[in-house]
Amino acid sequence: MQAGVIAVQGDVSEHAAAIERAARAHGEAADVVEIRQSGTVPDCDVLLMPGGESTAISRLLRREGIDEEIRDHVAAGKPVLATCAGLIVAATDAKDERVETLDLLDVTVDRNAFGRQKDSFEAPLDVSGLDSPFPAVFIRAPLIDEVGEARSAPEASGEEQPASTGDGEGTPVNDGESVEVLARWDGDPVAVRQGPVVGTSFHPELTSDSRIHDLAFFDTVEVSGQ
Ligand code: GLN
Repeated sequence: MQAGVIAVQGDVSEHAAAIERAARAHGEAADVVEIRQSGTVPDCDVLLMPGGESTAISRLLRREGIDEEIRDHVAAGKPVLATCAGLIVAATDAKDERVETLDLLDVTVDRNAFGRQKDSFEAPLDVSGLDSPFPAVFIRAPLIDEVGEARSAPEASGEEQPASTGDGEGTPVNDGESVEVLARWDGDPVAVRQGPVVGTSFHPELTSDSRIHDLAFFDTVEVSGQ
């Protein structure tokens, strides 16, 4: 499978290693490409959106024209795993005008809700579909404070729906799919799935446990050309 790691900023090498490890465990090889320019995303079967600094990541994605390619990838039903800053960029609203969100997940996030770097922590987390807790690493992590409902598709409702602009205020790409909360911390969602997109507040790429990658990619992935 061709796995694209969005590499404009953030923990890129950790994501590359994690998807290679996860694929190996499934007897597959992940051919990892680091994405810094437009033109490569359309060749990717799966995408990974790293943690880092969401203001920088969103600005660079827009500048390089990668933002629309990611939205097209999701619209085509291809999987994405977005972690921490990646989740913030994937949201519909980050409540911060410096982040131009991509509307991949119908959620509102609270950046740095857990506090500063020193408030980073690791905790065992119950994740739906996993039979034992996941070792979740939270680093200046966002919380998800609003989760959207599935909206009816335009043809079903008969109403005109506004086209998404990708500016953080549009209609999510996976409009007709509901957001499933996969895990909560202290009552608030920290892992969600909507259609082919999985977003986590924490960093599964920083542990050797591949089960979040399994949920994101190996239950759903269809490798092109096979
Ligand atoms: N708080 C960071 C942001 O707002 C995300 C931190 C992370 O990705 N570890 O972008």
